Amino acid sequence: MNILKDSFGRTFPYIRMSITDVCNFKCGYCLPNGYQIDRSDSRKFLHLDEIKRLAKCFSELGVRKIRITGGEPTVRKDFYEIIRILKIESGIKNVVITTNGYHLDRKAKFLANTGLNGINISIDSLNRETFKNITGHDRLPEILQGIKNLQDFGFENIKINGVLLNEINSTKKDFDEWSNFIQNNKIDFRYIELMQTGDNLEYFKKYHIPSKVFKNYLDENKWIYQTFGKDAGPSLNYINPEYKGKFGIIAPYSKDFCKSCNRLRITSRGDLRLCLFGNTGISVRHLLQNDNQLSELKDLILKQMQFKKESHYLELGKTGSTKNLSKTGG
Ligand code: SAM
Ligand code: SF4
Repeated sequence: MNILKDSFGRTFPYIRMSITDVCNFKCGYCLPNGYQIDRSDSRKFLHLDEIKRLAKCFSELGVRKIRITGGEPTVRKDFYEIIRILKIESGIKNVVITTNGYHLDRKAKFLANTGLNGINISIDSLNRETFKNITGHDRLPEILQGIKNLQDFGFENIKINGVLLNEINSTKKDFDEWSNFIQNNKIDFRYIELMQTGDNLEYFKKYHIPSKVFKNYLDENKWIYQTFGKDAGPSLNYINPEYKGKFGIIAPYSKDFCKSCNRLRITSRGDLRLCLFGNTGISVRHLLQNDNQLSELKDLILKQMQFKKESHYLELGKTGSTKNLSKTGG
């Protein structure tokens, strides 16, 4: 079997696929003015058949996991159909999504019935007012209710991600709230360090804070660093025998972050992106039009691997063509 491997010896069993740029939230670090149509790019978002062909191709290239993201993936009318087809027809074992949790209380039942293998929900704060200020939506209660509903339907693999923001959600009180939340709840919570993108420089300067502040909290509170196998990716995970859930840190500015990179990205319009940042990537869409293009598509993707760079060079302030993460699927 062909395996996706780059010139630094890293392998890529994991794909993040954006299926739309559209989002209904207005997160300050991502789309502070809400989603705006990009008039410079008139291409439509990938359609179901293209998504299916691409996933099948990746599965034959050794990919085992696909994360569907966006924008907000659940705004697509054919969202459930996409998940269903990926689960049944693509050969990918592990299909997961990242969502902002919009209407999660109502969607939980359908999500639990799709056969999804995992759901990451973005919640930046357990304080209702703070959540509203960050996202532009007073929806924390419906999301928390949605999580309960998912669990009532027997859905187990739930993770929550929050972007760490200086003086907004980075105090001991915030950390304690998450700690209480996961104490008797088998949910992993991870803080992601805020990343600079093409659009958010002022916000980044104001709110970026190194994740060390959270790491110090974990060390002080007897959380134990847990190492994982080589497919685990760049999250640093912590366990505590007294807690059902785990904590994690995603620290893109840390020295060795890119060493454990195990993922490639597909944008909503069918560009293969070798990194969340940088300008390397090409459109593969012309090879998604027929089932008989599969072998040509595989060759193209395999050839691209030699162009994957060692690092994102984010620490040098190089954001490449990434204006915000809704475009590349964060
Ligand atoms: N809309 C969905 C959501 O918010 O979960 C999926 C797409 S969103 C771009 C994916 C993740 O990227 C979210 O957890 C979000 O908080 C995170 N994100 C967006 N912009 C970011 C930034 N500049 N730095 C760090 N994380 C960011
Ligand atoms: Fe939308 Fe997700 Fe970006 Fe927030 S982070 S604006 S929910 S795409």
